[in-house]
Amino acid sequence: MTDENGQSETNTDISRRSVLKGAVALGAVAMAGGFALNLAAPGSAQAELKKLPAKWDETWDVVIVGSGFAGLAAAAEAAGAGAKVVILEKMPTYGGNSIINGGVFAAWDSKFHYRQNLNLGDDSPKQHASDTVKGGDYYNLPELVEVMANGAEPALNWMIDEGGAQIRPTVTRAGGHSAYRTHSAVAGVGREYTEALRKIAEKRGAQIILNSQVTWVWRQDADPGSPVLGLEVKRGRRTLNIKADKAVILASGGFSRDIKMRLAHNPRLVESFNCTNQPGATGEMIRFAQSVGADTLQMNFIQLYPFAEPETGILDTPAVYPFNGPGYGIVYVSKSGERFVNELERRDVCAFAQINLGANAKPTYSIFNESMVLKMGGSNEEVAAGVAKGRFIMADTIADLAGKLKIPADMLATTINKHNKYIEEGKDPDFNKPMTKVMIPLAQGPFYAVAQWPAVHHCMGGLRINPQAQVIDIFSNVIPGLYAAGEVAGGVHGSNRLGSNAIPDCVSFGRVAGTSAAKEKSRV
Ligand SMILES: Cc1cc2nc3c(=O)[nH]c(=O)nc-3n(C[C@H](O)[C@H](O)[C@H](O)COP(=O)(O)OP(=O)(O)OC[C@H]3O[C@@H](n4cnc5c(N)ncnc54)[C@H](O)[C@@H]3O)c2cc1C
Repeated sequence: MTDENGQSETNTDISRRSVLKGAVALGAVAMAGGFALNLAAPGSAQAELKKLPAKWDETWDVVIVGSGFAGLAAAAEAAGAGAKVVILEKMPTYGGNSIINGGVFAAWDSKFHYRQNLNLGDDSPKQHASDTVKGGDYYNLPELVEVMANGAEPALNWMIDEGGAQIRPTVTRAGGHSAYRTHSAVAGVGREYTEALRKIAEKRGAQIILNSQVTWVWRQDADPGSPVLGLEVKRGRRTLNIKADKAVILASGGFSRDIKMRLAHNPRLVESFNCTNQPGATGEMIRFAQSVGADTLQMNFIQLYPFAEPETGILDTPAVYPFNGPGYGIVYVSKSGERFVNELERRDVCAFAQINLGANAKPTYSIFNESMVLKMGGSNEEVAAGVAKGRFIMADTIADLAGKLKIPADMLATTINKHNKYIEEGKDPDFNKPMTKVMIPLAQGPFYAVAQWPAVHHCMGGLRINPQAQVIDIFSNVIPGLYAAGEVAGGVHGSNRLGSNAIPDCVSFGRVAGTSAAKEKSRV
């Protein structure tokens, strides 16, 4: 992996010279003149006539925008099929939201068969797909959901077998899922998988170039059969034109940090909301793709993560516990010590149940005990580190915990005792939570609490694609030579993404896009 000056970012040691040499070897191809397609409104700054470059500065077979799960998986597959592949990443480090992600991955099975071995009930790709569509209020495109649900287990095993990713020996049942299918990374963050994918991609010859901001998509002309030819890129002070001899793959992630785009589609998500995303999660690649004819869908479906750190919006390791806990009996309480939602509900329901408690209700808390930690994919080291940082509050009794949280002790005790009884009786008359046999009553300490509040998190909408990850134009035609995968694409998750479904989505569609792109005919 290299920065824009070719400085090696890792021990893979790819120098600028080798990148340039690669470009020369591949040929700096001269282009016929002419104007590129640009659908921006006449008179707007963006409508400045974009002239196709007279020559290309570099040529690759497959050019990928973005170095998260989707871009890395695409690079690995395209390079594995023999294509010369480059990933362009605008940030100074690789990995996007993927590398800071919580590391939870939904798949009906893995090579270790934890669900079956722990006797946690049945599951199948069909059940996974059906939960996903229900969780998205049936706005999901079923043919895309199928790619994710069927691709999840092979994707997880691929990263384990070829990339060396490691997962913890349990599975959890998270909000909106009807089965125990969420796997946790040993590292506790998405880096476990981005490193695995990076290793596979680089081993197969793909290159990652950092500090390379894509500033335009070159498409030949307005003819529906006209192909995407390459990209304009800013690297330091230089502007380069990079040719994609076979295809361009957009894997540029969501736009949660793009306040203008966010508000244009979902005015409810005002600027004062915190955001879990990295600063580069902006929507310019969607705008450039739209400018050359790409269609979008469901751009207003933007998700809040219900359990972010209340003051900063950061989704740190402690913020993953409330997500992983419901299947093992974690309890969410308000500042008054009362439950306010069925903890197995979807993210949108949990987020708005908190917001609807009122302006002064921040934060709410998740309460769990030591016996739940390993089962819900946590670790004792993480809990100790969280306590040391003050993110987890620990106490030996529920009364002491209430005292530390400054919430009414009587009410918290009543709430916890009632919930313990519901576990015993297998019924939750307050919120109708589906109780399961593996839920653990909060009877024995030490007890823990973690503060939580919603923050803007995930874009379910984006570019319109088909199951081959080809981008579709506003007239429903495939745009030749243009693919999209991961959060930049819309339609997989409908109105609300189920937690832990993004990694299988990004990796499965990345693999599809990379495999298809490598099969395209060369345009030389
Ligand atoms: C904190 C956090 C925790 C999460 N935890 C989980 C989890 O545990 N499980 C789960 O399933 N999902 C989780 N998600 C969601 C999931 O991580 C994302 O949906 C996923 O990482 C998106 O991957 P991607 O490859 O599509 O995009 P990204 O990983 O965001 O990568 C896109 C890259 O493209 C780059 N880029 C954008 N525009 C340009 C441009 N013009 N030129 C060059 N580069 C560009 C960006 O800088 C970025 O590096 C989490 C999200 C966050 C933010």
